[in-house]
Amino acid sequence: MMDRADTFLHKGKRKKLVELLRQKGFTNEKVLAAIEKVPRHAFLDSAFLNFAYDDEAFPIGEGQTISHPSTVAMQTDILQIKKGEKVLEIGTGCGYQTAVLLEMGARVFSIERQQKLYEKTKVFLPKLGYSARFFYGDGYKGLPQHAPFSKIIVTAGAPYPPDDLLKQLEIGGILVIPIGKGAEQTMNVITRKEEQIFDRTELGTFKFVPMIKDKA
Ligand code: SAH
Repeated sequence: MMDRADTFLHKGKRKKLVELLRQKGFTNEKVLAAIEKVPRHAFLDSAFLNFAYDDEAFPIGEGQTISHPSTVAMQTDILQIKKGEKVLEIGTGCGYQTAVLLEMGARVFSIERQQKLYEKTKVFLPKLGYSARFFYGDGYKGLPQHAPFSKIIVTAGAPYPPDDLLKQLEIGGILVIPIGKGAEQTMNVITRKEEQIFDRTELGTFKFVPMIKDKA
């Protein structure tokens, strides 16, 4: 489809988005470069094409949303990703955050709870040249068979930090997770200092779709 091609127009809009993120206080050049590379318009339904580079969230089907670029920038920045690190992502969704993590040089393992989104994204991302490992499953449980992870990112609102995810974090690893039981959550940054010692910091309020518990 022609409208999904990455034209100069889209590239120009991405540069403007990066400028906007700078104005909003983002300074991590690696994260900004990743956002400048990923063609966000290609992840969205054609109805939203003209707004793809606004700092807004949009529906991606199944009642879910793609996160605001500023939220993606923030969560990615918090993780301090180094090339080759294993990153576990909970909530693949349309795969935009996955692509940004891949541009940072991470090896990404991504779990999605909704089969339709899982099926769609695991076919779509490779078409854009992005390869990650995709899993259809429950993010509360993580991926014990592939643990430990250097970093874990949760892109849905969780009522609490799931125990299984804490266990699958390596020592020195970072978990970024929006925590809250209602429509709003607080961004939590949890660092595993030692086997049993976790340090926790809270950074601002966000609105994520809620993490789904054991859906039939
Ligand atoms: N990172 C995504 C944001 C998706 S919104 C993107 O850039 O598009 C949150 C996603 O988390 C949704 O796709 C939702 O289906 C998924 N999700 C919700 N609960 C989950 C769970 N328990 N395990 C895995 N994924 C879950």
